[in-house]
Amino acid sequence: MNIRSATFIKGAVGTDDIFEDGTPQVVFVGRSNVGKSSIINSVTNQKSLAKTSFFPGRTQQINIFLINRVFYLVDLPGYGFAKVPKEVWRKIQKMIGWYLFDSGYVFRKVVLIIDAKIGPTSDDMNMLRSLEEENKDIIVVANKIDKIKKSEYDRQIQKIRDIIGMHKVIPYSAEKRIGAGELVDVIVAE
Ligand code: GDP
Repeated sequence: MNIRSATFIKGAVGTDDIFEDGTPQVVFVGRSNVGKSSIINSVTNQKSLAKTSFFPGRTQQINIFLINRVFYLVDLPGYGFAKVPKEVWRKIQKMIGWYLFDSGYVFRKVVLIIDAKIGPTSDDMNMLRSLEEENKDIIVVANKIDKIKKSEYDRQIQKIRDIIGMHKVIPYSAEKRIGAGELVDVIVAE
């Protein structure tokens, strides 16, 4: 299946009726700067559907996109380091934690994005473990594979797979649009 349509619906900062309207939610989460917006743009085939630098306010809310008029792609703010005041940062982290772990909302899938060259950081592993504890259906996207030297590629991807364990890992490059077909298949699958 393809992504035929993708529309920005709204931003949420907490409880919202939209999360309870019965539409399946596919969540995208990752550290700031890992390339989450670029990935969302590459899978939806749109240049600036999610573009943090163009819409600064949007980086501090939960952005909801409707895909194929069938499910929501939920774009969470980046966790970890971000260039915002401490108070704002705390609020964002609290919102991420609430949505993922306390809201009670059911997710079709959680797509955890990591940097393929750096590998999973301790922040990424904390997120992964927390998601596992809550039995979420997790897929890991290892973005920026274009930055890995050819000679190191196989070893680096294997290392990531070993660390991530049982979950599916999709090697990805938003820049070169590698892996987009596989990721689309996974997120549109019921
Ligand atoms: P976000 O903060 O996670 O939404 O990240 P962005 O999508 O804004 O990307 C952060 C930076 O990483 C930008 O400078 C992007 O151009 C760059 N970037 C994103 N994806 C890739 C990729 O696949 N390869 C490379 N080389 N750079 C990327």
